[in-house]
Amino acid sequence: MHRTQRLLAALALVLALGAAAACGKEGSPPVKGPQPDALPKYRIASAFQLPDSATWRKAKNRGRLIVGAKEDQPYMGEKDPATGRYSGFDIEIAKMMAASLGFDPASIEFRTIASANRETALQNGQIDYYVGTYTINDNRKKLVGFAGPYYMAGQSLLVRADENDISGPRDLDGKRVCSAAGSTPYQRIEKDYPEADLVAYDTYSVCVDNLLTYQVDAVTTDDTILMGYAAKVPDELKVVGRPFSQEPYGIGVPRDDNALRFALDDALAAHERNGDWKKAYDATLGLSGVPAPRPPAIDRYPAS
Ligand code: GLU
Repeated sequence: MHRTQRLLAALALVLALGAAAACGKEGSPPVKGPQPDALPKYRIASAFQLPDSATWRKAKNRGRLIVGAKEDQPYMGEKDPATGRYSGFDIEIAKMMAASLGFDPASIEFRTIASANRETALQNGQIDYYVGTYTINDNRKKLVGFAGPYYMAGQSLLVRADENDISGPRDLDGKRVCSAAGSTPYQRIEKDYPEADLVAYDTYSVCVDNLLTYQVDAVTTDDTILMGYAAKVPDELKVVGRPFSQEPYGIGVPRDDNALRFALDDALAAHERNGDWKKAYDATLGLSGVPAPRPPAIDRYPAS
């Protein structure tokens, strides 16, 4: 194929990600994604009760959980445009948690929430909890609670495959760099690499579109997310350099719902112990070729 044609084909694939909800076309991008049969089944806790959690009581009355997630992050949280189903490592974490809280994971209603809107979604009670590459940090802890962490990611760079000038954040001076509004990677570039020409969109898939069409020179966010985009179009995109931050992923909960937060901490520990965590990783993010690490220690911080 001609180079321009290949680029257009690549762009079409990535656009399909962004347009997942709207397009309703048959089929999804041809990339090896999680195979439904390979995904673990989680034992649903019977007669589970968490009366101290207002979030849990509300979900119980409703009869199902509403969980915030991402829909355009391959391996982590991705929505199939044909079926509307979500898949990825974050989605599996959300399902494990549901099973431990006494809900059938198949009944979860997932809602796509962008990075910049996570805190308000939790504060307004639009979602019961959030699982979507959500870094735990002290600023966010003022607004929401975090169970976990359940994974340790690191900020990296995605560039076009023929890019030779960028291999780390120090090379970003004067380069157009794209990230998501409200994300920790955006904030880090703004603060530590002020010479970069930084632009923000709501989602990373829009940044990737801009990279493929030469509107920007690099996309920056967690390695987990960037590896997924590179895997979609390996001839066009590559992840470069070493991760230059630590991004501990937590499950976001309403800030005052300590009962829910502690229940999710307990649930994570149990699913790490019984092998579910590793099985889920292997069937999703593990498809990137990185073997399962040991999950980070859970930080059961006291109620404040
Ligand atoms: N983990 C980072 C964050 O929470 C980047 C990924 C994202 O935006 O979801 O800001």
